[in-house]
Amino acid sequence: MSEKFDLIVIGAGPGGYVAAIKAAKAGMNVAVVESIRVGGTCLNRGCIPAKAMIHASGLYREMLEEAELVGLSASNVSYDYSKIVEYKQGTTDELVGGIEALLEGNGVTRFEGKGTLQADRSVVVKLKDGGETVLEADKVLLAAGSVPSLIPIPGIDLKGVLTSDGVFSLTHKPESLVIIGGGVIGVEFATVFANLGSKVTIVEALPRILQNMDKEVSQNLKMIMKKSDVEIHTGASVKSIEQGGEGLIVNYEEKDKPAQATGQIVVCAAGRKPNLDGLFAEDVVIAMDGKFVDVNEKFETSMPGVYAIGDIINGVQLAHAASAHGICAVEIMNGEEPSLNLGAIPGCVYTDPEIAQVGITEADAKDAGTEVICGKFIMSANGKSLITHEERGFVKVVAKADSHEILGAQMMCARATDMIAEFTTAITNGLTVEQMLAGVRPHPTYNEGITEALEDCIGESTHTVPRRKR
Ligand code: FAD
Repeated sequence: MSEKFDLIVIGAGPGGYVAAIKAAKAGMNVAVVESIRVGGTCLNRGCIPAKAMIHASGLYREMLEEAELVGLSASNVSYDYSKIVEYKQGTTDELVGGIEALLEGNGVTRFEGKGTLQADRSVVVKLKDGGETVLEADKVLLAAGSVPSLIPIPGIDLKGVLTSDGVFSLTHKPESLVIIGGGVIGVEFATVFANLGSKVTIVEALPRILQNMDKEVSQNLKMIMKKSDVEIHTGASVKSIEQGGEGLIVNYEEKDKPAQATGQIVVCAAGRKPNLDGLFAEDVVIAMDGKFVDVNEKFETSMPGVYAIGDIINGVQLAHAASAHGICAVEIMNGEEPSLNLGAIPGCVYTDPEIAQVGITEADAKDAGTEVICGKFIMSANGKSLITHEERGFVKVVAKADSHEILGAQMMCARATDMIAEFTTAITNGLTVEQMLAGVRPHPTYNEGITEALEDCIGESTHTVPRRKR
């Protein structure tokens, strides 16, 4: 006997659970199959736990380094790593509970177990508590997400070599760690452990950390992290890992010369791959786009009635992108036009200072032969940044030279990850520099930096205050 639904969603990460709730609200009878825990990578092993660790460790560093600057004295400042882990877990658990309640409140039927798509589009679920059930539906949405990928080098399987999943399970703070990969995940972990006083080394094969971000952003971050005693090697390719007397030794080649870095643990943050494990029955034939499930612009796979979204398809691997895919896919299933603009997905890095960008950079415009005007504001002249001693950083704006339509923005400053949404809205709605300037921003706020950068774009700076020497 099989149970019938309008839609079966495999995977309850930010792609799957948002799609399920959207579909249920649209009147569909929805089943969600989840093999580990509702919330997916994002809530359990990604965005939320990482940001909780960044928050706790950042607060500790601020208490040590900033308190005196504003006349506060804090003595015996310390931390208990197990309590930081508890706080991180509590935050995750609260959010997971909220999603479980939302799914239930919207009448979504949950199946706890591993879902496998069959050639006839039914889904066989191996239930966690034993047994098996078969689900059928007109439509199936694959939202199985991604898992960390390990680089194929000798020693990668040694005890103490962890992926991001393993880092969240640590019960003690490592005294030293080598992070393989200077992408978003790598630099965020470096931030956490450097804040807590660990000796951190990043080894990145590409010429710069955060290679996909604006060049100025990655150069500045490298300088700032070095000041926090993070050792960074770029253009450095890891060859092997071995057990040494004082920890794990990472052997790498930098500028054709062999070199070594030692850490109590090694974190492999060198990318993620789609989670295809057990997702398809052996006789399922489905088109792939390299290692990803291939979809068209309607999120349809090559199997009729089967859609795919989020980290399992080729594109940016971000939680809000997965959720946006989910919303659009359900709208498309119901014959509606997608309501979201997937062309302007902001990317954020929660380092100190934060980094965020959306749309194109000045270099992208140059490569594409698009004539642009650019504006920039250095945050050391922003009142709020002076108050909070967060003067490092800048806001950059890129707009079309003729129409002044906003094409992109890059920010490296306090609250950049919140402020970038102003530009996402602007790009999505085709707003111009002048239209963005028409709204009055409150004072004192970091957002005033946006006004300044926009004004600089059209040569009309008015507010700049003198910079304070520190
Ligand atoms: P996932 O979140 O991976 O969810 C997929 C779910 O499907 C999982 O729960 C899995 O158990 C389940 N599943 C898989 N196969 C099956 C099956 N056969 N049957 C049943 N269930 C199955 N993104 C951001 O936007 N902001 C951030 O700050 C950020 N920080 C990150 C930090 C780290 C350390 C990591 C690792 C990732 C981070 N990400 C961040 C990326 C973000 O977590 C992912 O892009 C996002 O979770 C992808 O959503 P998804 O729904 O596609 O897949």
